[in-house]
Amino acid sequence: MKKLLTTICALVPLIGTVKAQEFTPTQIQQVKQVTELALDSDLSWQLLESLTSEVGPRLPGSENDKKAVEWAKQQFEQLGFDKVWLEPATFPNWRRYRESGTIITPSKQPLHLTALGNSIGTPKEGLTAPVVMFETLDELIAAPKGSLENKIAFVNYRMNRHIDGNGYGPAVRARNTGAIEAAKKGAIAYMMRSVSTSHHRFAHTGNSRYKDGVSKIPNTAIANPDADQIERLLNAGHAVSVNINLQTEDLGEGTSYNVIAEITGSDAPQQYVLIGGHLDSWDLGTGALDDGAGVALTMAAATHIKQIARPKRSIRVVLFAAEELGLWGAKAYFKQHADKLDNIVAAAESDFGADVVYGFESSVSANSLPVVRAIAEQLAPLDIKYVRANNAHGGPDLIPLRQATNAPIFALHQDGTDYFDYHHTADDTLDKVDPDKLKQNTAAYAVFAMMAANAKTTLTGKNP
Ligand code: ZN
Ligand code: ZN
Repeated sequence: MKKLLTTICALVPLIGTVKAQEFTPTQIQQVKQVTELALDSDLSWQLLESLTSEVGPRLPGSENDKKAVEWAKQQFEQLGFDKVWLEPATFPNWRRYRESGTIITPSKQPLHLTALGNSIGTPKEGLTAPVVMFETLDELIAAPKGSLENKIAFVNYRMNRHIDGNGYGPAVRARNTGAIEAAKKGAIAYMMRSVSTSHHRFAHTGNSRYKDGVSKIPNTAIANPDADQIERLLNAGHAVSVNINLQTEDLGEGTSYNVIAEITGSDAPQQYVLIGGHLDSWDLGTGALDDGAGVALTMAAATHIKQIARPKRSIRVVLFAAEELGLWGAKAYFKQHADKLDNIVAAAESDFGADVVYGFESSVSANSLPVVRAIAEQLAPLDIKYVRANNAHGGPDLIPLRQATNAPIFALHQDGTDYFDYHHTADDTLDKVDPDKLKQNTAAYAVFAMMAANAKTTLTGKNP
């Protein structure tokens, strides 16, 4: 014990030295200034209010999506970024026009539904058929071939609520591939309980896929109270049939743009910290939580850093295009910059709403960890805990980066307890964002990005 204590005591001054080497007292002072500035400023709120009100919903390829690109470019220019530019991304262009649903038997009543992204439409009068219920996607997969001929397959899987959103992955399987599995068994349409933790009567949309060689069938999610209703009727022994009416269109390949802006670094301008979110949103709400908040708070965080002092390395804000339809902007960005991914010294995406950031986690090399600890220390006054697992995944738009290289990736974990109450619904609107929490998020990103850009040691990914 005594020996251990002596060792610890010997280490304490050493840790102090490492920190002193990584950041000068002036740089630490600047971190405190940027924290105060971000907590004081309502810039991120103003940006979010403008984007969600003056542009509104931003389905990739729509007129509003074009407006959003123009909006972001203009805002970056007005905020005084050193460089602002666009990079194209293509994606499957899809539109929702009208949609409605009705329970026909045993008793006629409304069915609140929404088409899943990419879904084909139904005939003009819709499509009516009996419903067969499954508790899980696996149960549907296990159904005998041909057993769903002329039926509507209904997966009634309930998503789990958790602060880190860990219920989403298991639930979203039924959204991604449910229609493929249903069609393989002969079903003429697919319907699922929304990927949602809410009891409100909104259906939650989201992307879905078809598979070559398997027929495409209309693909929908229903509001959770409606899923309960159908479940009750079936459990009571009734035959249930519903009418699904979806008017959608596949418009072929569309083009949109990643909007990119940079604060140029003073010492190593080619190296950069990447922060951002995705500019597109679903068409039902105004994309305030998903992902207007991520867009606004990372734009504001970089602006605040510039207001305090020019960083040593560059800070690049990337607003990705067409995330909702399958990460198309992110795929284009990391392909376009494939030969220069080593220039990314840290990457973090905010795409999980705007509730408080409660945890800070890295995925970096061992010799980058002292810098991470120093950043964590400056985040602590914002009530952010250091998550030591060193296993951060970052946001969805960082998936192509993670797949391409061992980049240094960071997560500023937001409290997602309520996120899936509103996610991908008509209910994702500005009033769901708390201005004070948005400021805390902005401050967290400003501190993280400023310090990652200024550290003496260049951050590197695991196993470089
Ligand atoms: Zn998102
Ligand atoms: Zn989304």
